[in-house]
Amino acid sequence: MATKKKTKKMKKMKKNVYFFGGGKADGKAEMKNLLGGKGANLAEMAGHPNLRIPVPPGFTITTDVCTYFYKHNGKYPSGLQDSVNAAMKKVESLMGKKFGDPKNPLLVSVRSGARQSMPGMMETVLNVGLTEKTVKGIIEKTGNPRFAYDAYRRLITMYSDVVMEKAAGIEPAEGKGIRRQLEEILEKKKEQRGVKLDTELDADDLKDVCQKYKKKVKQVLKKSFPDDAYKQLWGGIGAVFSSWKGKRAISYRRIENIPDEWGTAVNVQTMVFGNMGENSATGVAFTRNPGNGDNKFYGEYLINAQGEDVVAGIRTPAPINKNSQSDHNKNLKMLSQVMPKIYKQLDGIQRRLEKHYHDMQDIEFTIEDGELYLLQTRVGKRNGPAAVKMAVDMVKERLISKKAAVNRVKPEQLDELLHPIIDPDAEKLNKVIAKGLPAGPGGASGMIVLDADTAVEWAKKGKKVILVREETNPEDVEGMRAAQAILTARGGMTSHAALVARGWGKCCVVGCDGLDVDYSKKKVKTGGMTLKQGDWITLNGSKGLVYKGVLPMMDATRENVILNRFLKMCDGIKKIKIRTNADTPEDARKARDFGAEGIGLFRMEHMFYGEGAEKPLFKLRKMILSEGEKERKQALKELYPYVKKDIKGTLAAMQGYPVTIRLLDPPLHEFVPHQQDQLKTLAKSLKVRMPDLEKRISVLKESNPMMGHRGVRLGVTYPEITEMSVRAILEATAELVKEKKKVFSEIMIPVVGADTELWDQKEVVDRVLKEVLKKYKLKSLPIMVGTMIEIPRAALTADKISRVAEFFSFGTNDLTQMGFGFSRDDIGGFLPAYLDKKILPQDPFQTIDQDGIGQLIKYGIERGRKTRPGLKVGICGEHGGDPKSIEFCYLAGMDYVSCSPFRVPIARLAAAQAADCK
Ligand code: PEP
Ligand code: MG
Repeated sequence: MATKKKTKKMKKMKKNVYFFGGGKADGKAEMKNLLGGKGANLAEMAGHPNLRIPVPPGFTITTDVCTYFYKHNGKYPSGLQDSVNAAMKKVESLMGKKFGDPKNPLLVSVRSGARQSMPGMMETVLNVGLTEKTVKGIIEKTGNPRFAYDAYRRLITMYSDVVMEKAAGIEPAEGKGIRRQLEEILEKKKEQRGVKLDTELDADDLKDVCQKYKKKVKQVLKKSFPDDAYKQLWGGIGAVFSSWKGKRAISYRRIENIPDEWGTAVNVQTMVFGNMGENSATGVAFTRNPGNGDNKFYGEYLINAQGEDVVAGIRTPAPINKNSQSDHNKNLKMLSQVMPKIYKQLDGIQRRLEKHYHDMQDIEFTIEDGELYLLQTRVGKRNGPAAVKMAVDMVKERLISKKAAVNRVKPEQLDELLHPIIDPDAEKLNKVIAKGLPAGPGGASGMIVLDADTAVEWAKKGKKVILVREETNPEDVEGMRAAQAILTARGGMTSHAALVARGWGKCCVVGCDGLDVDYSKKKVKTGGMTLKQGDWITLNGSKGLVYKGVLPMMDATRENVILNRFLKMCDGIKKIKIRTNADTPEDARKARDFGAEGIGLFRMEHMFYGEGAEKPLFKLRKMILSEGEKERKQALKELYPYVKKDIKGTLAAMQGYPVTIRLLDPPLHEFVPHQQDQLKTLAKSLKVRMPDLEKRISVLKESNPMMGHRGVRLGVTYPEITEMSVRAILEATAELVKEKKKVFSEIMIPVVGADTELWDQKEVVDRVLKEVLKKYKLKSLPIMVGTMIEIPRAALTADKISRVAEFFSFGTNDLTQMGFGFSRDDIGGFLPAYLDKKILPQDPFQTIDQDGIGQLIKYGIERGRKTRPGLKVGICGEHGGDPKSIEFCYLAGMDYVSCSPFRVPIARLAAAQAADCK
């Protein structure tokens, strides 16, 4: 009866401790949630029949225990102690040693291990089990007192720091932490002995250091360092669980979106030592080169060292084989030479691991007195070019499917293949002087210039410049083009600077709040530092960071053949089309090269920016400042040939792929010049006096231009503007048809809020169409007429709007602006606080706010298609290039997304990944 009861109770009790070692394991790789990533992989390596790799035996205490620990005020579930003792017995019998035994002691490590790797964020205690008695046992067993006392002093340092101070919630004053105080003792010892390195201290020195350490611990923390193996073990376990709620771990979880409830597992594992002499070593290796993706075993090691020495950078690690040689280490002996047998064994293991996990592995190994042990395996981190190469190669090697390959590369990683980037190693060594929003990808260095004219002038002299402005406007465009990169103090991800830079694929950082630009003194202040015009800075436009001076760049574009192969793979999987936002024939061609399947947004007014645009810009300005229909019609007539030429060039470059051309949508005042000489020329051309021209300019000023006289409103008030634009599109199309070229034009009317606005404009389009057909003797033209949905009211009345519109293109820049009521150019002032306080999970101008703006989109599509089934729908706001938003657009039923040319490859990949989730 009693036995039955006990069995029942045992059955009810959850298994909290999982053993691994000696070719067996209770757990496996799939149990990451319960055992953490590290524990699950250790179990897999130890126990899976295909692997059975030598890992030092040990056991994992589950993440459930961590949850229990927090729910019950730091208490453990009943029975945990028994389970730990039982697991320890198994380890002892495999190792032929005993934990806490004075003659033949077993030492263990106690480490954290969450579901998702949180490198360096939680605590570790090594060499647990060393006491006054066992240290003697170790000396006897190894005959190496120096090694034993070195291990002992490391334990005292780690234990007092991690368990007795941090886990106990003691927060010492700066520089007064126990670790620091112990390190001072070691420094003093070295000074006394006249040596520089720890390794130059002998056994007696270290023995003395250990005694001094213990005294110090008692004096500072008012408790003795425990001289009992099991006390140390439980102290270590508790400290690792506590470190889940340490400051570092919490902030890392916030950044990586790791839920607090997950908890960490604790891994208790036999210590193996790479520092037991010349026959011992420790190292880190990758099954493929993580820097370039080459399918070659790659790694570094140190003879007679512990893991932390490899990371500490005091000694230069040696290459494990020829593949791992560099200028830096080529004179050091390779593992394949020094320990050929062990190298062969390691090589065999890495092959098996990669085949088993179907991915590149990052492994840690230790050789203890000629015996190889694997301490860890995990999926290895890799840069963009390496990720793409590995994905393509692994498909070729039949190691993974195409679908898996497509999911192996993060869309943002493709950025690294399309632009030069700052060498990541150099970035680590330099201090960030200002932070803003990552508006244009890649890295760039240049001299600070504070105005567009100087940027052009300096660039002409062959100087590299970075244009630094409070914010930019169309007048700065020449300077923006001439600059290597653009940096602004204000503005958000859809501000003028961001939009233009992204379109060109130019490095750009916007909304750098801490930046104080003083145009009159030609100085820039940031974080207590003053820089002047001409000083060098470097930008990381992919992360929004600014550095002082010149940082080295890396050109990552060399893998383009492989990139194309990878993107073709994506095209085979994706189900949504990718178009581009392009405003010139040149951009259109570039986008075609990147794989764009059409233009989703040709902003007519962008034709007037930049190189060679002086003449049409002048005509546009003349049109804007003309008074009365007659004067305006004359200006439009003069403008017409330029507009038509550009549109025709772009349509031709797209070779029959659809091109959505948006009618003029400029907040008019943006195009009014400020320079006196330009104003004078305009006055002359319009035949008016300067004071009259100035009056006309003041009339154009609006208090809120974003909601002012723009878009369709311009066409309603001045139908002749619509007429000119539509005629340019239709005649360009007709001429290409006559030239037997493939062409398809989509006329798009912006800033529509009511169907009646659209009906009004449709009349103009129909009238011009009739005239053009007659002129070119054609029956029809390959065109469509549609609208942007960028005002919330348009989304809400989409069923009416789609009666007249043949297609919808969601303008999510304005839809977000008007849906949230956030000015897209002024968001820099408050967005950082919103993100910090988690009021918003992300910048809504970068990633679609699915709960709000996303609902408007879904509703708009549904209503639009109710009236017009099969309505063509796309997106042309900046979100069209954002991977998360692309997934949303696909799931919402859009036919295409449109983004800047340089984001087309990223969108192709994101679309392929999205296709996998429906
Ligand atoms: C939009 O509003 O999303 C859009 C594409 O138009 P623009 O950015 O030119 O206002
Ligand atoms: Mg818009």
